[in-house]
Amino acid sequence: MKVLVINCGSSSLKFRFIETDKDEVIAKGLCERIGTNGGHFAYQKTGSGRIDLDKYLPDHDEAVRIILTTLTDPKNGVVSSLDEIDAVGHRIVHGGDKFTHAEIITHEVLEEIEKLSELAPIHNPVNVMGIKACMHRMPGKNMVGVFDTAFHHSLPEQAYLYGIPYEYYKKYGIRRYGFHGMSHRYVAIKTANLMGMKYHSSKIVVCHLGNGASITAVENGRSIDTSMGYTPLEGIIMGTRSGSIDPEIVNIIAEKEEKSLMEVMKILNRKSGVFGLSDYLSADIRDLTKAYLEGNKNAVRALSTYTYRIVKYIGAYVTVLNGAHAISFTAGVGENSVLVRKLICDRLGFLGVEIDEEANKNASGETLISTPESKIRVYVVPTDEELSIARQTAELIKERSTDLRMVDEEH
Ligand code: ADP
Repeated sequence: MKVLVINCGSSSLKFRFIETDKDEVIAKGLCERIGTNGGHFAYQKTGSGRIDLDKYLPDHDEAVRIILTTLTDPKNGVVSSLDEIDAVGHRIVHGGDKFTHAEIITHEVLEEIEKLSELAPIHNPVNVMGIKACMHRMPGKNMVGVFDTAFHHSLPEQAYLYGIPYEYYKKYGIRRYGFHGMSHRYVAIKTANLMGMKYHSSKIVVCHLGNGASITAVENGRSIDTSMGYTPLEGIIMGTRSGSIDPEIVNIIAEKEEKSLMEVMKILNRKSGVFGLSDYLSADIRDLTKAYLEGNKNAVRALSTYTYRIVKYIGAYVTVLNGAHAISFTAGVGENSVLVRKLICDRLGFLGVEIDEEANKNASGETLISTPESKIRVYVVPTDEELSIARQTAELIKERSTDLRMVDEEH
């Protein structure tokens, strides 16, 4: 099945066109700076060079138009008409309590996603814009919403409730939702395959370490705990996000710095994390690694605190899982930072973790980086959220068309 995957940001729209039967990328690209000056469209057909076009993109609708025009272009395109696109898979950040699996997007589903904007005011409205643009440009096309939160619907009550009055959960849905679900699921499945184990009888800790970062305990194919919470601010220290802090700190900063609550939240989201900890040296682990190796105190402080916090989460999650078969590292930092992986794994000796220094240094693609003696296997597994969206889209469309055929036959 040929699936167009759409991943919408507030001023960007990433897309990938995938043949899901072969896990093959047919074309991919990106629209940037939508709605502002400096609009840009990048496109690459697999096996051909990249095309870059500077073009004003007033809105997401125009971005979708240019993508579809290019995909069907006689010279640079990959299909002769839009009919050859079997389905569109949309990444949607927040599915709330409502969406526990990928869902075919109907007008009712779209309304529900819009309602969930209350839980994700930055992300869901933008996702809705992408869906509406696709519906406008490809009326009647099968569309599927794949939710960042859905994989975590299996969290038990004890993991998703906060220690605050229960009435707030009932009235406002204040609970842990968790994010990066597509990545955690994809990496956990891959890890089980790499171990030669059944996904549904494996225990894996997935560390998704990117700019945003979260850790998930996956037991028998189900997420049973995850570090991000009601919003993607909770959990481990990130590029610019603080991760978990004592909530009283918000009051203190507001009072001392004479700032509003909104301003403090902005600081916790944009000026904290390793960026804030390094005294604003950098939010990028590449820069911090270089500085760390040169003995820069700000970088040492930031990376030591960052990795220490991750170690604590891994320890907690191995306990929650009552032992784990594997720990997997993924996303920008997890896949690429030899130093971060080493700083973390060196502190996990009490769990019997032992990494192979050479394997860690040379890791590329899916790699086992622990020694044969290690009690828990440690892997690097590149994540692929778009492929995960495409696969889930194709699976759902196939499942629903089988259901419909069965209903037809019954009548
Ligand atoms: P996002 O959360 O934005 O999707 P990514 O998963 O792409 O983030 O991760 C981006 C981060 O990965 C960068 O900010 C950088 O810190 C880190 N990164 C990328 N390449 C390397 C590398 N070679 N070494 C260390 N860190 C890296």
